[in-house]
Amino acid sequence: MKKEFLLFLVSVSLLVFSSCQKKQEPAKPYLIMLSLDGFRWDYPAYANTPVLDSLQEAGVIAESLKPSFPTKTFPNHYTIATGLYPDHNGLVNNSFFAPDLDKFYRISDREAVENGDFYGGEPIWVTAEKQNVTAATFFWVGSEAKIEGVRPEYWYKYDKSVPFKSRVDTVKYWLSLPEAKRPHLILWYYYQPDHIGHEAGPYSEETMAMVEKLDSLLGYYFTQMRKLPRFDKLNFIITSDHGMTETSNDRVVVIDQFIDTADLDILTGGNPVLNIKVKPGELEKVYRQLKSVPHIYAWKHDSVPARLHYGHNPRTLDIIVAAYPGWSIVTSWRNRVGKGNHGYDNDFKDMHAIFYAAGPAFKKGFIHPTFENVNIYPLITRIMNLKPAPVDGKFENVETMLR
Ligand code: AMP
Ligand code: ZN
Ligand code: ZN
Repeated sequence: MKKEFLLFLVSVSLLVFSSCQKKQEPAKPYLIMLSLDGFRWDYPAYANTPVLDSLQEAGVIAESLKPSFPTKTFPNHYTIATGLYPDHNGLVNNSFFAPDLDKFYRISDREAVENGDFYGGEPIWVTAEKQNVTAATFFWVGSEAKIEGVRPEYWYKYDKSVPFKSRVDTVKYWLSLPEAKRPHLILWYYYQPDHIGHEAGPYSEETMAMVEKLDSLLGYYFTQMRKLPRFDKLNFIITSDHGMTETSNDRVVVIDQFIDTADLDILTGGNPVLNIKVKPGELEKVYRQLKSVPHIYAWKHDSVPARLHYGHNPRTLDIIVAAYPGWSIVTSWRNRVGKGNHGYDNDFKDMHAIFYAAGPAFKKGFIHPTFENVNIYPLITRIMNLKPAPVDGKFENVETMLR
């Protein structure tokens, strides 16, 4: 054999060898999670939702997703992101007082929302970025703050007015970037049908019309995603933070008719779950008064039923008050009640949320029993080959949905 030909053979086999090696490298997985605020687990049973229904065949659907208590927006988005119950991640309500920081947190207070000191645990985008996986968020609770000094590579300040389709277009743009810049973990969010559910009630025509509109927008989402050359590598989750139940002006508890607010230091949280700090020496009195109020639960700090995983964090304050399902807690100076609300006990099925998933990591046509939203974090870290932070959720609780 000629020397040149031998050299040629060697270089060809080297080429083949190196390309084989490349193929053997595990591909970096993708995970794109959308949350539709307040999308109750059973809305598709009342509305025409062909796109969501098709996901059931194409992937996994959970009977329902059990939110964490209190079943409010901020605690639950941050629980999904961290795998920790609100008591452990620090976002104990939409509004709360943090004795550790001597500061109030409110969702309308930009300074608070962007202050990383409020946020405990390790959100999934921080876990990803720390392990060299690029992350992006188009609005997710917590992602506007630096946590452990880290923000997602791409993120935006919250602006409710950005249309659904623009958000989709941005997700598509991100996934079209060159690999070095392309995020592999994307979390994005839309504020409906929560908004209309509060205003018109969960069974209203308006809410059902919104659910159907969202389903057709999901059609746009997947049409856009299918145009990407890497569509079949993408794993999708569509979820929500909580459900919605009917409320009424006929089912209200006017709290200041039962206690003297002069006995309180702090009255925070939000209907139907309040966090109360009592003035020194008044705890027993106020607790006794609250215990006798019909249609509400009152628990002292550290005495909330264990199944709610709540009431140990100092931010939950001295007394936690929660209305019975469908009831509202108001004050005589602020007593407007909408037609729908959430925040109640997470065993109340109206509070349950949705979970749909599809993509190469997931089984097809698989129905998973109801599971808690603390398990989403370990599910994602497993799919993305990330080392998880210590969390309340367990991968074993959801592993059967994976291929
Ligand atoms: P709620 O129904 O009171 O639990 O909260 C839902 C509201 O939270 C929605 O109307 C959203 O517009 C709002 N929201 C969601 N994410 C954010 C955010 N990152 N910053 C401020 N408000 C938000
Ligand atoms: Zn919500
Ligand atoms: Zn809401």
